[in-house]
Amino acid sequence: NVTVPASLRMGEAFTVQLSGARAAQATVRFPSEIGEDVRKPAEILNPVGAAGEYVVPGRVVLGKTTPVVFEVSVGGELVRGRIPVVGLDQPIQHLNLSPQISGVLQDPARKAEDALVEKAYARRTPQAWSRPFAPALKGAAPTSSSFGQPRTYTAGGPVAYHFGTDYPARTGTPVLAVNDGTVVIAGRYPVRGGLVVIDHGAGVTSLYFHQSRVTAKVGQKVTRGQKIGEVGNTGLSAGAHLHLEIRVRGEGTNPASWMNRLWPR
Ligand SMILES: [Zn+2]
Repeated sequence: NVTVPASLRMGEAFTVQLSGARAAQATVRFPSEIGEDVRKPAEILNPVGAAGEYVVPGRVVLGKTTPVVFEVSVGGELVRGRIPVVGLDQPIQHLNLSPQISGVLQDPARKAEDALVEKAYARRTPQAWSRPFAPALKGAAPTSSSFGQPRTYTAGGPVAYHFGTDYPARTGTPVLAVNDGTVVIAGRYPVRGGLVVIDHGAGVTSLYFHQSRVTAKVGQKVTRGQKIGEVGNTGLSAGAHLHLEIRVRGEGTNPASWMNRLWPR
């Protein structure tokens, strides 16, 4: 049996749920990703799970409102379907950052920073978590500059989507791992500032930007709720906050769709 959501929002994480005796042998791909500006499009994906209940995580790429097409293959049989996608309908936000802040976008070290992050997105390791995802800060509410917001950083500059959610908090507030995983990036970078990236397995990574202090180390195994650093205002940031991203195979998904859930539903 194949279960998918009836509809999706742009940027939403979701799962294709597979059940039954042959679920473990099935493969899933999303052919609608072909030809789009997407990381690892239409990859053949093996489900994760146990005891006849399996899932494959999906993502609705920001900027794409075309239906998500999925294909499930098992033993020469093919199940194909499509899920309609609705846009987020947010007006463009013009940040007009000062040249001192927006200048980091021209930093020559930015290319190396982006390449390092892309390498983290390309990792494919087994699912490392077995409990629901948890917030990265204790008791902080996200700002209006929320997930999926289209915005410009400078007057007349290009429109970019906000791939994460911003949580304003005082500098020094502990930043916590949203779930179990392995730290694959920990350091200070021009755009993302004090950055930690955790590989949770199953193609899922979480990223924590702009920290004043990074206490996690590359290669370290962390557990849900473990401190990995402290909130700050480093990199492309105009005030102390945590920028949290949860990506599926490198594409940004809404962190809210993961909170307090084992998988987004
Ligand atoms: Zn942000």
